[in-house]
Amino acid sequence: MRVAVVGAGIVGACTAWALARRGVACTLYERRQPMGETSRASSKLLHGGLRYLETGQFRLVGKALHARSDWLELAPHLCHRLEMLLPMYREKGRSQLTIAAGIRIYDVLAMGSGFPRARMLNPADVLALQPGLSAGGLVGAWAFFDAQMDDYALGNWVVDQFCDLGGELVTDHEVRDLAELDGYDRIVNATGPWAMQLRETVPGKPSHHLDWVRGSHIVLDRPCPAAMLLEVPGSSRIFFVLPHQGRTLVGTTEVRQTGPNNPGPSENEIRYLLDAHNFYLAPAATHYDVVEVFSGVRPLLRSADNPSEATREWAFERTAKVLHIYGGKWTTAKLQGDDAAQRILQ
Ligand SMILES: Cc1cc2nc3c(=O)[nH]c(=O)nc-3n(C[C@H](O)[C@H](O)[C@H](O)COP(=O)(O)OP(=O)(O)OC[C@H]3O[C@@H](n4cnc5c(N)ncnc54)[C@H](O)[C@@H]3O)c2cc1C
Repeated sequence: MRVAVVGAGIVGACTAWALARRGVACTLYERRQPMGETSRASSKLLHGGLRYLETGQFRLVGKALHARSDWLELAPHLCHRLEMLLPMYREKGRSQLTIAAGIRIYDVLAMGSGFPRARMLNPADVLALQPGLSAGGLVGAWAFFDAQMDDYALGNWVVDQFCDLGGELVTDHEVRDLAELDGYDRIVNATGPWAMQLRETVPGKPSHHLDWVRGSHIVLDRPCPAAMLLEVPGSSRIFFVLPHQGRTLVGTTEVRQTGPNNPGPSENEIRYLLDAHNFYLAPAATHYDVVEVFSGVRPLLRSADNPSEATREWAFERTAKVLHIYGGKWTTAKLQGDDAAQRILQ
C-alpha cells in the first residue's frame, strides 16, 4: 500500500510516522517546510489542559496527561517537566474550592503517568518563587506539573523519525487538489487549519466544520523565574506566563477568524497580553520589552460559541480513499496519528 499524507504539521508528521512504523510506504507532502505553521506557534506546553475540565473534557484531559509522559520518554532532549503555579487571590476569580476540585481531578486523571501530585504553597513560598507577583490579597498557589517542549524542534524530530524509517518527505509542494494524488492507494488530509479547503476538492458535504481561532504570544526580554497560569482580569479566561529561552513568554489570545490564513498578532492582542501580564507582575512591561510576537491559527472542531469552550478533541471523515483529519492538540498528536494510521489500514 502507498499512502500520501498532506501537511507536515505535528498531526501530519505523527500520522506519517505511525504509518512508517507499521511498514507502510508513505510520502509526506508539505507546501512549505515542516512545522512552519500552527505547530510552531503553540504555547510549547505538553499538558493535560486544566481548564478543559470546566467544559467536561475529562477523557481528553486524561489522554493528554498520559501523552505528556510518552513525549518525555521518546525525546527527553527536547522536552522537560515544568512546575506551574496557579496563584489564588482573595475574592478574585474562581473560588478556591473550584480550583482545588480541578487540581484534584487533574491529579487523579494523571495517576500512573509518573508525574508528582500537586501541592499547595503559602504566599511566602509563592513570592519566593516569583518575586514580581502582586502580593495584595494573595492567599497562596497550587503548584502542579506539566511539561514544556521546543515545538519546532520536537516536531522536526518526529519528521526525522519518519524519514529514518524510509519515509519520503516532499517540501515546497502545495497539493492544490486531492485528485493530484490519485496514484496513491490512500490519502490523508492533515492540513490543520486548511483541511476544509482541501476537503472542498472532493465531492460531498463535509461531516465536520472548523473554527479558526487565532492565538498570539509575546516574548518579553526578561527572565521568568516561575511558570504561571493566571486568570485574565475581568474574565474567566486563562493565560500563561512561561520561561522561554531565558525570557518570558506570555500567551495566549483567542480571536475567531473567517478563514485559515494567519495575519499575525494584532496590536489589540499585544496590548491585551501586556495588560494581563502587568495586572499581576512587576515591573510592568511595555512595548519596548517585547522582543518577539507570534501567532498561530487553531483548527478547532466547531462545537461552541465561545472558542474557550470548544472541544480540543479530533475527528475523522472518510471520502473514498481520503481520510480527512479535523482538530486536535499538539500534546495528543501522536495518539491522533496512531488513530489515523489504524483507520487507514482498516
Ligand atoms: C496559540 C496557540 C497555542 C497552542 N498551545 C498549545 C500547547 O501549548 N499545547 C498543545 O498541546 N497544543 C497547543 N496548541 C494547539 C496545537 O498547536 C495545534 O493543535 C497543532 O499544532 C495543529 O497541528 P496541525 O498539524 O493540525 O496543523 P499545522 O501545524 O498548521 O500544520 C498543517 C500543515 O499543512 C500544510 N499545508 C496546508 N495546506 C497544504 C496543502 N494544500 N499542501 C501541502 N501542505 C499544506 C501547512 O503548511 C502546515 O505546515 C496551540 C495552538 C495555538 C494556535
